[in-house]
Amino acid sequence: MTLEQCDIVVIGAGFAGMYAIHRLRKHYKVACFEAGDGVGGTWYWNRYPGARVDVESVQYSYGFDNDLQQEWNWSEHSSAQPDLERYANHVADRFNLCEFIRLSNPVRSMRFDETENRWHVQSAKGDHVACRYVIAATGPLYASHKPEWPGQEEFKGRVLHTTEWPREGIDFAAGFAPNPAPTCQFGVQWQQYRRQGEQVHGLCRRLQSLYPGLCGRRGRGLSRLLQAMKKGR
Ligand SMILES: Cc1cc2nc3c(=O)[nH]c(=O)nc-3n(C[C@H](O)[C@H](O)[C@H](O)COP(=O)(O)OP(=O)(O)OC[C@H]3O[C@@H](n4cnc5c(N)ncnc54)[C@H](O)[C@@H]3O)c2cc1C
Repeated sequence: MTLEQCDIVVIGAGFAGMYAIHRLRKHYKVACFEAGDGVGGTWYWNRYPGARVDVESVQYSYGFDNDLQQEWNWSEHSSAQPDLERYANHVADRFNLCEFIRLSNPVRSMRFDETENRWHVQSAKGDHVACRYVIAATGPLYASHKPEWPGQEEFKGRVLHTTEWPREGIDFAAGFAPNPAPTCQFGVQWQQYRRQGEQVHGLCRRLQSLYPGLCGRRGRGLSRLLQAMKKGR
């Protein structure tokens, strides 16, 4: 394994990681590791039906380049996932960010060598980079939570997670059964799945981070949603 020397390693090629590369590459030698095989982070991984932003799309526009801002048109007020992924790829291409990004190559370990005053970063593909700084642009919501539920072992259907939704989509009528993790967006899709499949089970995480007041004992709003889903309404 050859040891490479860099100034900065950026972990993650989501919106934060891409911006870090853009800002730093002029003055520093930068290498970026990304676990996925594309850029966009959240908007690369979460491709389940109904995935879309709950803010104005324009809030995702980078502000560092006026031409970029003028030439890009968001297709919707609150865009769906494909639009966000398209934008991330557009930015990566336009600013040649891809030459710094090592896709499908997650960082597996980091060690700080106090004698050298340098980080040693090692990746799944065997890259070993020593650098002065590490920027962990790994995102606040990257790690997916896979909840356990009673009867899990006996369940014979196919289990899906919103962060690992198949690119080719799912035909529920063919007998698949999903285990959709979080988001209210998925709840909106619920009726559609019910129409397609005979048996569709939904599990919804409580959104403590977003709506603390709705969770715990006082989580009536969410409880009502879950009850409605259970009854198939
Ligand atoms: C379903 C969903 C909907 C959301 N909707 C909104 C919204 O409407 N509005 C809003 O403002 N925010 C929303 N968010 C929050 C969203 O995460 C942020 O808006 C933003 O996209 C985060 O960007 P980021 O670059 O910080 O992190 P991320 O987009 O999470 O990118 C992190 C990247 O780091 C990579 N990574 C992690 N660990 C490693 C490793 N060890 N090695 C290599 N790569 C690694 C991941 O593969 C990922 O590509 C949503 C999040 C989710 C999950």
